[in-house]
Amino acid sequence: MIGIEEFQTEVTSFLKANAEEKQAEERFVWGRGSDKVAMFEERDRAAEQASLAAAKSWRATRFDAGLGWITGPPEYGGRQLSAAHQRAYDQLESSYDVPNQSFFIIGLGMVAPTILAHSSSSARERYLRRLYRGDLVACQLFSEPGAGSDLASLQTRAERDGEEWVLTGQKVWTSGAQYSDIGEIIARTDPDLPKHQGLTGFIVDMRAPGVEIRPLRQMTGGASFNEVFFNEVRVPDDDRLGDVNNGWAVALTTLMNERAAIGAGGGGGGVGLVARAIEMTKAFGLADDPLVRQALADIVIRSRVNGYTNQRALDRIRSGQTPGPELSIAKLAGTELSMRLTDFVAKVLGPKLIADTGEWGTYSWGQLVMGVPGLRIAGGSDEVMRNIVGERVLGLPKDPGIDTTSPFRELKVGTQGQSA
Ligand SMILES: Cc1cc2nc3c(=O)[nH]c(=O)nc-3n(C[C@H](O)[C@H](O)[C@H](O)COP(=O)(O)OP(=O)(O)OC[C@H]3O[C@@H](n4cnc5c(N)ncnc54)[C@H](O)[C@@H]3O)c2cc1C
Repeated sequence: MIGIEEFQTEVTSFLKANAEEKQAEERFVWGRGSDKVAMFEERDRAAEQASLAAAKSWRATRFDAGLGWITGPPEYGGRQLSAAHQRAYDQLESSYDVPNQSFFIIGLGMVAPTILAHSSSSARERYLRRLYRGDLVACQLFSEPGAGSDLASLQTRAERDGEEWVLTGQKVWTSGAQYSDIGEIIARTDPDLPKHQGLTGFIVDMRAPGVEIRPLRQMTGGASFNEVFFNEVRVPDDDRLGDVNNGWAVALTTLMNERAAIGAGGGGGGVGLVARAIEMTKAFGLADDPLVRQALADIVIRSRVNGYTNQRALDRIRSGQTPGPELSIAKLAGTELSMRLTDFVAKVLGPKLIADTGEWGTYSWGQLVMGVPGLRIAGGSDEVMRNIVGERVLGLPKDPGIDTTSPFRELKVGTQGQSA
């Protein structure tokens, strides 16, 4: 395996040849450049298409240079290097101006690992290389109007018809469906089995006849979510993920990786935002206020601890180990950090957060502040994560859900299928 130093030299010459290095003055300085901070980028559809084209082009350049899937298997274009090589790449790339890669978070962070773990070899051949090269973008089609935390209650049906399956039903809250080429869907294949056992996973073509995507507007003003309707959509059996009626294991693979992705800073608590909040405090003359300093120190410490916790979890995933309930802790901690950060910013800014005075770096935080509460729900809500930690880390008795015979049954609002 190539040593880290030699790899860094290779990456540096690749980046120098293909991207512009950020100038010192282009790095963040309070009052200069764009003051946009948002969790979901709220672009109109034309701007979204332009960003997507740039993002795809950068992924293709990386992939063709042998840097598109640093830890992945060589048969699908991967380099089979270590998590440390991946970190070295990420660190070097962060000093260069490259197109925003957020379009690929779900496809590469969640769907591709599931395809690698559960699909047929021909489906792996069909999708993995194209996903890592950015030729395909993927979304996650799990939640339904009646199935969120209790995911195993989902009702979308898949019925076998020869070598194909026919999908009918509705999904909701599908992030990025509007620009996705394929989606990972979990559907009910046997309604007579207990709910966790009658499910199967598939890869579905988002442009197939019978797929209808309707945008949902959220309180940030944007529409990054969608309702997706399936009206007798045909899926080849070769696009099945895992065995028939074993979709729950497939869903869990994706959910574990989702928690890692959110905990790792897909949300609002990234290091860049913490640095921005520190600069804001200085700019507002509050850096010597002891209460402000205390709150900031708490945020910085949490951010560092989170970084290390996530690094451990991600290294486990990258070295091929199965992530466990530590991802629920990472997700909870990441969300808590984001909430503390946005509460802090809202207190410092006061009314400037919601009244646009034109002052740089003030009103622009509004989108992030309104987007972060979504993190408490996405990928398993805080309450569901706490149940998982209680049961699988602390060894507490299992939460009696609506399917459990329990004297407390009448008091329960739902089940936590995602932890089963
Ligand atoms: C930002 C964001 C992005 C998303 N992207 C996607 C996506 O791309 N694809 C996709 O499929 N879905 C997506 N979702 C949907 C998400 O997975 C669901 O919203 C989530 O699983 C919760 O389900 P629900 O909304 O139906 O709430 P419910 O499950 O109805 O929960 C309602 C409330 O009850 C609580 N609750 C439920 N069960 C229990 C329990 N057993 N114990 C204690 N409390 C409980 C919950 O914590 C919550 O407060 C996204 C959501 C968000 C916010």
